[in-house]
Amino acid sequence: MTESPAPETSQPMVRFERVTKRYGSLVVLDELDLDIARNEKVAIIGPSGSGKTTVLRMLMTLEKIDGGVIHVDGEPLTHMERNGQLVRANESHLRRMRGKIGMVFQHFNLFPHMTSLGNCIEAPMRVLGLSRREAEDRARELLEMVGLRDKMGHYPSQMSGGQQQRVAIARALAMRPKVMLFDEVTSALDPELVGEVLNVIRRLGEEHDLTMLMVTHQMGFAREFADRVCFFYEGKIAEQGAPAELLGNPKEERTRQFLSAVL
Ligand code: ADP
Repeated sequence: MTESPAPETSQPMVRFERVTKRYGSLVVLDELDLDIARNEKVAIIGPSGSGKTTVLRMLMTLEKIDGGVIHVDGEPLTHMERNGQLVRANESHLRRMRGKIGMVFQHFNLFPHMTSLGNCIEAPMRVLGLSRREAEDRARELLEMVGLRDKMGHYPSQMSGGQQQRVAIARALAMRPKVMLFDEVTSALDPELVGEVLNVIRRLGEEHDLTMLMVTHQMGFAREFADRVCFFYEGKIAEQGAPAELLGNPKEERTRQFLSAVL
C-alpha cells in the first residue's frame, strides 16, 4: 500500500470541487467550487437559505455529499483512495479528518454540567488520549488566551453569553484544529457582548496559523477581519473578492441588493 503524498503548502487547505447538496428536490449547494488557502480568513455572507451553514456542516461531515468532492489538507474528506479509486472513508479516516476541523456554533453547545475547564478537557482526553494533566495545561492556556483566567471553575449557567462563547472557542482550539469554522457566533448574543467575542476571533487570526471560515452577518467585522468575502446566493458563490471591494463596490446586482438590506 502506498502512503498518500505529504500535502504541499501550495495546496489549498480546503477545496470544494463541484459539491452538490440536496434535501429532497431542493438543491442547497449547486456544484460549488471553493478553494481556501492555508491561513486564509474567509467570510461567507448571503441571504438566509443560500447554503452558508450547509458549507460548514459538510466540512464537519455532519451532512452527506450528493455530488463532487471536498478536500481538506490535501486529502479527500469523506473518501479515501484505494487502488487508484475513491471509496467511502472508514471511521478511522473520518476521525482523523474531523480532527483537523474545529467548529463554533451560534448556540454555544457547552456541556451544562461541566465547568469551563471541564468543557475544554473532555474531548482532548477522550479523543486525543491526553492525560488529565496535559489536557488541563492546554485548557488553562487557552482559557487564559480568551480572557477567562478567572472563570475556569465556572459552569455555563454562571457565565454571560459572551463568556460562554469564548469557552466554546477555547474548547474547539483545544483539539488543535487546522481549520476553524464559525457559524454566526455572535448572533445569539446581546449587542454589548458581541465585541468581546469578535476581539478574541480577531486575535486568534492574527496570532495563530489557522485557516478560518466564518459565516457572519457582521459586515463591519468581515471587512476588517477577512482576506476574502464570498457572497452566497442559491447555493453558489455569486460574487467574491477582497472585503473593501466586495462590500464597498459590489459588481453584481444581487450583492448590491443584499448589502443595501443589511448595511
Ligand atoms: P443559510 O445558512 O444560508 O441560511 P442553510 O445552509 O442553513 O442556509 O440552508 C440552506 C437551505 O437548506 C435552506 O432552504 C434550508 O431550509 C434547507 N435545509 C437545511 N437543512 C435542512 C434539512 N436538514 N432538511 C431539509 N432542508 C434543509
